[in-house]
Amino acid sequence: MREQLLHLLFPHVCLLCKRLLLPGEEYCCSGCMEEFDPFSTISEAEEQLRSTIVAHFGERFPFERGWCRYLFHKKSALQQVLHSMKYEGLLHLGTTFGRQLGSWMLSGGDIGAIECLVPIPLHRLKKIERSYNQSEKIAEGLAQSLRKPVRPELLVRKRFTVSQTGLSAVDREKNSAGAFLATSGVRGRHVLLVDDVVTTGATMAAAAEALRAGGAKSVSLAALALAAKE
Ligand SMILES: [Zn+2]
Repeated sequence: MREQLLHLLFPHVCLLCKRLLLPGEEYCCSGCMEEFDPFSTISEAEEQLRSTIVAHFGERFPFERGWCRYLFHKKSALQQVLHSMKYEGLLHLGTTFGRQLGSWMLSGGDIGAIECLVPIPLHRLKKIERSYNQSEKIAEGLAQSLRKPVRPELLVRKRFTVSQTGLSAVDREKNSAGAFLATSGVRGRHVLLVDDVVTTGATMAAAAEALRAGGAKSVSLAALALAAKE
């Protein structure tokens, strides 16, 4: 709650270094944003996403394209900020991050024939506990940049998976498999799946599989960050 209160009281102060924000800066100053370890090129980010997912799922990369903005390190400034977004109710921070991710995607040229954005759903019980889905907020920001609709109803979570934190890659895959179900609206569409942090890709792969099983034409992926191998 502390960061949220501070932000309400001082909306023009950087969440991390507490410096006054300049025009155009939101939540974090550009100096702190640089510490988030952004990928320098879109193709480098896509390549690392691909190799992380392929390392866990064999040669199978169930996505047409993949984008992510930052490399996520434990105990980093980015982790601190994402924690505030997830657990301290800074919902608009997710939208801001999403908007920035979208502009970055567009800066790389053609993003393909994506028709709609689908956030990774939280189970209903988790949503009650946390009151909102951070992936949905990121998707809303992305939608503003990409000018595509967000369609959260296209993917539902069937069962309550346990938290992935601390699970091995194999256990993560088991935990996620069969967790999602796509609704009929995905048929024939190119869907962009949206999440906050990709660790092994198990959640994203399970969601992509459900979308394909539901008849999606293709699935791409956009995440704020990819967990660094540490
Ligand atoms: Zn700062």
